[in-house]
Amino acid sequence: MLITHEHEELRRTTRNFIEKEVNPFVAEWEAAGIFPARELFRKMGNLGLLGITKPEAWGGINLDFSYEVVFAEEMGSALCGSIPMAVGVQTNMCTPALALHGSDELRAEFLAPAISGDRIGSIAVSEPGAGSDVAGITTAARKDGGDYLINGSKMWITNATQADFFCVLANTGNGHKHHNKSLIIVPAGTPGLSVGTRLKKMGMRSSDTAQVFFDHVRVPQRFRIGEEGMGFTYQMEQFQEERLFAAAIVIKTLENCINSTIDYTRERSVYGKPLLNKQVIQFQLAEMQVETEALRALVYQATETYVKGDNVTKLASMAKLKAGRLCRSVPDQCLQFWGGMGYMEESLINRLCRDMRLAAIGGGADEVMLAIIAKMMGIMPPE
Ligand SMILES: Cc1cc2nc3c(=O)[nH]c(=O)nc-3n(C[C@H](O)[C@H](O)[C@H](O)COP(=O)(O)OP(=O)(O)OC[C@H]3O[C@@H](n4cnc5c(N)ncnc54)[C@H](O)[C@@H]3O)c2cc1C
Repeated sequence: MLITHEHEELRRTTRNFIEKEVNPFVAEWEAAGIFPARELFRKMGNLGLLGITKPEAWGGINLDFSYEVVFAEEMGSALCGSIPMAVGVQTNMCTPALALHGSDELRAEFLAPAISGDRIGSIAVSEPGAGSDVAGITTAARKDGGDYLINGSKMWITNATQADFFCVLANTGNGHKHHNKSLIIVPAGTPGLSVGTRLKKMGMRSSDTAQVFFDHVRVPQRFRIGEEGMGFTYQMEQFQEERLFAAAIVIKTLENCINSTIDYTRERSVYGKPLLNKQVIQFQLAEMQVETEALRALVYQATETYVKGDNVTKLASMAKLKAGRLCRSVPDQCLQFWGGMGYMEESLINRLCRDMRLAAIGGGADEVMLAIIAKMMGIMPPE
């Protein structure tokens, strides 16, 4: 992936934003269990950061996906996982299908304000009984005159308590499970829609996660994205951007784990010498840096493939898997070198370790990525 002057400019803008508007407040937001999405997204909208690849007609900048990846990478310099994840939901999880397949009316109403930061979005796919098995969802949207009546519930929804709209995957027919679903935009505040209280989590504490309930929620059929019955296909397409973004955001966070551990072990004296003098620690840190560079190379290769317009499913799944694996090993190995201080909630490595554990589970668990890769290698039969 060729990094141009324009990529570097975007990097600089994003890094400045993180250093000025995010990092000084992370501890406060983590303690509060929520961050001010509305205020932060408006600032990002003003900088053009929420519509990098989106069409100019709706306020985007219309750049190719390599710019989104550079943006994601730089978002990873945040001192927590919550803010990059919440932003990723807005830019690359709840809006790609809307941008690509939504009607002009729908894009004017929901995409344009998502790009300007005036409306906060959520992606509502997972359910209490269906996470990995997306096709197994039971939330249903039945036609009633010119409307849909939606019943069901969604689980673990990021940004839910602050969202203005939800991009909901629901069953709109009785046919085959891959052809009976639609993506529907449901505005917050629609009668019958309710959001549960913020769920208490191991990590990602400043990100609000909640259950969303649909009890005879009525929305006009024009709120459906694209064709009826195409929701599963659109969601699978949308997942590719989500997974590339998710893999790209952890690169700098992994480097943050490594670099903060170098700083800590250089300062920490054991038996009268800096801990970092131990070769076993130097070698492990060097190995982690190599693995992180390998992830960056894989993300860049997948991005080039996506920008060319080729099928990126296998490479995006590989990048997501590699990211998930490293997010389990690197923060944990680093925390070990922080000793008792690493076990303290207040230490940076402790927060990053807790936050990054999600990467191997959310947006498609490691095993789901392995199943996709194995199928695409032709060594696992399709269902
Ligand atoms: C903090 C947080 C934020 C989230 N945000 C959102 C959001 O905004 N929107 C949304 O829709 N969802 C969201 N999710 C849900 C997330 O995407 C799911 O948790 C994830 O897809 C896994 O689904 P599950 O939890 O139901 O696990 P299950 O499907 O019950 O799977 C449990 C475990 O089984 C294993 N497994 C699964 N499939 C296979 C297989 N084929 N072979 C072998 N092993 C397998 C994996 O190890 C997996 O972790 C969020 C979750 C969390 C925790």
